[in-house]
Amino acid sequence: MAYFDNNATTRPNPEVQEAFEGALRESWSNPSSPYHSGAEVRVRLDRARENVARTLQVGEEQVAFTSGATEANNAVLAHAANFFDSSARVVVSSIEHPSVLEPADHWFSGRALTVPVEPTGVVDTNRLRALLEEVPEVRLVSLMAANNETGVLQPWGETTSLCRERGIHFHCDATQWVGKFPSSGFSACSSFSASAHKFGGPKGVGILVSELANPFILGGNQENGRRSGTENYPVIEATSVACEVIRSHLPEFSDRSSWRDSFEERMLFDFPGLQILGKEVPRLWNTSMFLLPDYENLRYVGKLDKLGFEVSTGSACSIGKDESPSVSLAMGFSTEQSQRLIRMSSYAEETEDDWMSLATAFCDARDELDEESSGSPVISL
Ligand code: PMP
Repeated sequence: MAYFDNNATTRPNPEVQEAFEGALRESWSNPSSPYHSGAEVRVRLDRARENVARTLQVGEEQVAFTSGATEANNAVLAHAANFFDSSARVVVSSIEHPSVLEPADHWFSGRALTVPVEPTGVVDTNRLRALLEEVPEVRLVSLMAANNETGVLQPWGETTSLCRERGIHFHCDATQWVGKFPSSGFSACSSFSASAHKFGGPKGVGILVSELANPFILGGNQENGRRSGTENYPVIEATSVACEVIRSHLPEFSDRSSWRDSFEERMLFDFPGLQILGKEVPRLWNTSMFLLPDYENLRYVGKLDKLGFEVSTGSACSIGKDESPSVSLAMGFSTEQSQRLIRMSSYAEETEDDWMSLATAFCDARDELDEESSGSPVISL
């Protein structure tokens, strides 16, 4: 089975599994307890935080562990609603993850402005600049670093400067970036979020780095007083190990876009009319999303699954909702077209051969679909 849905979640690597199991077995004391075993977990927890902070190139006092990027993003928006006065407005891009869009709508109902994307999938910075000029009440801008569906990189560096110059809080959802590219530069954002399960770590761990010291979950004052609740040391230790593993992989990742590019060249040749999203702009090296010329995406997903390839129709977070993926609509695709979109995302383990075999599997899947639509019986094993 070849797994091509790493933007949804990654397989925890063996070192991570071992670290998690060891910590669960040996280091289960409460790090706030005043005796030896508790103090030992506290020391280990501090070391894990330092290691995560080093990977993200920030100070360890800025790192708060959360239950995921969803909680981290929610915390920033909820905090902003509480902190700024009732005339404050926020700006989000039209392709943000629901964990940004929904709290923006909830906490800033009628005061959330949306900045559109160009047809390439890149946020329109001219429009953003104009919005910031026209609306002096904007106090917070939230823009992702890389889109989870198309992989298109967003102008978060430029947005950091635009916001800094105007004293506006800039939050960057860096969930799809961290673990695929070095994290240098994020320390200039007012806050940013990441998620361990997107880079070989465990699920249920998010990282919020923020210059704001205010609490967002009240109670026992853990996480430097910002997020109360007994720290989940085993998954934090596993996250720290995942950070070490990715630091060793990052140099080799940058060349891997050529594997994805060769796959796309083959697909373009074999599937006349295929349209690759964001091909003309910088993207994550691991992601390919395209508009198929024929047949609904779910039919391909089913055929490819039987052929041993797991791919996706888009963000796992949109599945189960009776609507087409918001990113494709924001990029100007119709509802009918969005049902022909398909996303492949590799990570550390998928090889060049896997990408090439996936292209062959697409052709086999299409042949089966052609046969089915022409009415001849197809025997699927
Ligand atoms: N932001 C982005 C860009 C994502 O891709 C995801 C995960 N799909 C999230 C936030 C939410 O992350 P988590 O699963 O850690 O809550």
